Amino acid sequence: MISLTLGELCRVLQGELLQGDPNIKVQGVSTDSRQIKSGEVFFALKGERFDGHDFVREALAKGAIAAIVARKIEGMPQGGLIIVPDTLKALQDLALYHRRTAFKGELIGITGSSGKTTTKNLVARVLEAKFKVLKTPGNFNNEIGLPLTLLNLKPEHQVVVVEMGMRGRGEIASLCQVAQPTVGVITNIGTAHLGRLGSVENIALAKRELLESLPPGGWAVLNGDDPWCRRLAEGLPVRPVFYGFEDSATFQARDIRMKGLEGIEFVVRFPEGETKVRLPVPGKHNVLNSLAALTLGYFLGVEIDSMVEKLLEWPAESMRQEILPGPQGSLIYNDAYNANPESTLAALDVLKELPGRRIAVLGDMLELGEKGPELHQKVGRRAAEVGLSMLVTVGELAREIATGALDSGMSNTRVFSFLHPREAGQFLARHLQPGDVVLLKGSRAARLEQVLEELQEVK
Ligand code: ATP
Ligand code: MG
Repeated sequence: MISLTLGELCRVLQGELLQGDPNIKVQGVSTDSRQIKSGEVFFALKGERFDGHDFVREALAKGAIAAIVARKIEGMPQGGLIIVPDTLKALQDLALYHRRTAFKGELIGITGSSGKTTTKNLVARVLEAKFKVLKTPGNFNNEIGLPLTLLNLKPEHQVVVVEMGMRGRGEIASLCQVAQPTVGVITNIGTAHLGRLGSVENIALAKRELLESLPPGGWAVLNGDDPWCRRLAEGLPVRPVFYGFEDSATFQARDIRMKGLEGIEFVVRFPEGETKVRLPVPGKHNVLNSLAALTLGYFLGVEIDSMVEKLLEWPAESMRQEILPGPQGSLIYNDAYNANPESTLAALDVLKELPGRRIAVLGDMLELGEKGPELHQKVGRRAAEVGLSMLVTVGELAREIATGALDSGMSNTRVFSFLHPREAGQFLARHLQPGDVVLLKGSRAARLEQVLEELQEVK
């Protein structure tokens, strides 16, 4: 939490205090006028749909002591007002100031195409065995969420774990400018955002920006099974350490036993020995995510046994890898928050491990550019291999998933395509049987939570 007066804040932001008492103490910051608390400062950010400047009056009326704005507000009510050239830049400058002045410990940045949030939660969980940890809440991984996370830094925090998302080159670099990470984790390099970046190599280079921003000698914790991650630290003055399934990994998972809904057991080999680990969730990708956490914890001196214990309780995220009861005695594997080709393949692999009739409801995977149709067909081919009782596709592009599945020999009596998630949900509700397990997976815009809503209607 920042500890500044309005006058000091104005100096940090290099803004102009148009009105307000410079000696008043700032109690916190917010960018959401609906949630603002008394004593906080409101940053008026301009988004795609809303302009925060339209909510300055509301924020001040609710007790904000000042607003940070880029232009004057007509008929300005009582309250503080600081004018800056760019309100987002001002928020980031404040976060950087706070990060520099309030925190001297390790700051772990996590990026990758898939598994960032899961890994971030697992890293924070194992580190909590020894430290007071601040982590990115939920999926707050962008140019606004990251500074807001850092502004929550309090004197008691000993380690910070932040998720870093990106859609183009330079974005991770600018997040790093604010966060100043000392340790970097890259979970994998996939095809998410291929449309904008043009090639997987460009995606790899964009993620590499995290390693480029580390101080010399900083740890780069990398997925050793990913050929791109293997090469990312080359030529940089960082210390790479690899985790994965292969013998060459410093932290290696072996003897992996999938136990369906009960989870997974495996053995981790680390530099001085090995230990058994149990995860209460399915999904081989989660073995990799937890290995990243164990690697980090090991280097920060957390006891292996206490980390293993921490992993027994899985950090839940809404619409991510959730197992929910469905209608007619079915189960729903709800992974509908977002999707890209690799995370969809990972989710299909999870489905394969689960008992019962398997049904996949797969929506469009967006932002893949011209490779979109081909990548959807690839997912369709895997869907055919999983031995699905039913494949339901939702959306225009997702029809290509159906094409891929049919081309791979899946019977057309088992493949159904819909344009709208509610139609798909209503169809499915009529066909579920006890013991069925239904995967929901698609990009955010595919809105597969509406399938879930339809299924919950019939419960
Ligand atoms: P986003 O870019 O949407 O923030 P993320 O990188 O934070 O995604 P998670 O939220 O951790 O990723 O996981 C998203 C989905 O990706 C999971 O629900 C799972 O299906 C899949 N997944 C998780 N970890 C991995 C992994 N290591 N490799 C491949 N797929 C994964
Ligand atoms: Mg995420």
